[in-house]
Amino acid sequence: MDDKLNRRSFFQLALMGAVAVPFIAKTAKLFASDACPSTPPAGKAVAQAGEGMGKTLEYVSDATSSKNIKYKAGNNCGNCKFYNTAKADGGYAPCTMLGMKYVTNCGWCKSYSAKA
Ligand code: SF4
Repeated sequence: MDDKLNRRSFFQLALMGAVAVPFIAKTAKLFASDACPSTPPAGKAVAQAGEGMGKTLEYVSDATSSKNIKYKAGNNCGNCKFYNTAKADGGYAPCTMLGMKYVTNCGWCKSYSAKA
């Protein structure tokens, strides 16, 4: 009787593992694709917080670090209408408001405007 239960338990665990592993792998991949890029694209002008228009518009490369009262959780360059996705490169794209300098998709500035 115990052998049957153990065998049944083993197969139940194996089945749960077969279902869970692909789900976990897919979820991990989803989060990985949402990760903020760490390396700016080579040879591109990259906006810097505290410099030029970046300073004027209070640009930050990590939206969650913004102290501006206009910032709302979930808003970032990646979903802003000024982020030129057609020219995106490794999680960065040029921003119209920052003179077409590249900004990270995780950034934010006070000219943020949600994509329609
Ligand atoms: S205007 Fe939009 S894309 Fe450009 S820095 Fe500000 S939030 Fe980012």
